[in-house]
Amino acid sequence: DPQLNRNYTFENFVEGDCNRLARSAGYAVAAKPGGTSFNPLMLYGGVGLGKTHLAHAIGNEIKKTLPDKLVLYVSCEKFTQQFVDALKHNNINDFVNFYQAIDVLIMDDVHNFAGKEKTQDFFFHIFNHLHQSGKQLIITSDKAPKDLAGLEERLLSRFKWGLSADLQVPDLETRMAILKNKIYQDGIELSNEVVEYVAHNIDNNVRELEGAMVSLLAQSTLNRKDIDLNLAKQMLKNFVKNSTKEISMEYIQSLVCEYFEVPIEMVKSQTRKREIVQARQISMYLAKAHTKSSLKSIGHFFGGRDHSTVIYACQTVEDLIDTDKKFKGYVADIQKKLKMS
Ligand code: ADP
Ligand code: MG
Repeated sequence: DPQLNRNYTFENFVEGDCNRLARSAGYAVAAKPGGTSFNPLMLYGGVGLGKTHLAHAIGNEIKKTLPDKLVLYVSCEKFTQQFVDALKHNNINDFVNFYQAIDVLIMDDVHNFAGKEKTQDFFFHIFNHLHQSGKQLIITSDKAPKDLAGLEERLLSRFKWGLSADLQVPDLETRMAILKNKIYQDGIELSNEVVEYVAHNIDNNVRELEGAMVSLLAQSTLNRKDIDLNLAKQMLKNFVKNSTKEISMEYIQSLVCEYFEVPIEMVKSQTRKREIVQARQISMYLAKAHTKSSLKSIGHFFGGRDHSTVIYACQTVEDLIDTDKKFKGYVADIQKKLKMS
């Protein structure tokens, strides 16, 4: 199937919290196309988050294990074009027959059906035929079915029959893993420090992340190993909006104290006053989350405490975030300020 991109596989689709459900649903569908309740499987999410990659991965996996299955990947735009051409050349029957013979239909970017009523109608009938015959449908879109404007209600209701799984923006850890995987695939050597810098600063979507990496490598006449952090910062200044300075424990301390209006030196003192303890615990929690400092050095910084105090503080803050909405809001506010620095 020339429509399937062989480079988009499960093997190189890095798993993270952002895509776990979608990935495992995709895997289940690939193992038993048409034979699960995930029909259609609807993958949705913003641009560059891996919808097309995952859709191809499912197709490729099916071709690998069930080579007799007829798998077709088509973008909504291409389908529309084919439909228009078929109308023009009077061979709509061939078009219908072609689509009705498919075992696994992957339709990418269905939000582009918006406003195209005739094409939607047509797809609706193909959808029904395939679904009734136990064939698998995999659909991607930039929004959840309930938020897709401009699509006919009856088509949307079909999209809700199976499973909708979203792809979210990957967290730092996953962004690192994606970069490392890419580096490994391409056989490139790049220092860990630089990888971390890129993953830290490019956090919109995976496509940009890869773009930054490609740009970095393209600009470099050096041996890749020799790209150091300063050079990387220099090269990526068009990608990184406001090149962030390192977050320090001092800075966290000052933000937290300012936010709760407590005197800055109190955080390091021995006082057990409730509001001070709270500021101290949040500071430790944020220091752990946003600096590379060890538990030991965090404890040391916040008034010569030991690492178990830091662990306890982080645990307390995490529990409160889970149980206390107001508290969660405080931490989110401070975190937002931290990230704007
Ligand atoms: P979308 O279709 O959602 O706009 P794509 O599937 O085109 O996004 O993904 C954009 C790029 O990011 C592709 O090169 C894809 O291989 C890569 N990508 C996205 N998610 C992952 C992931 N989890 N692991 C590895 N690469 C990914
Ligand atoms: Mg896409």
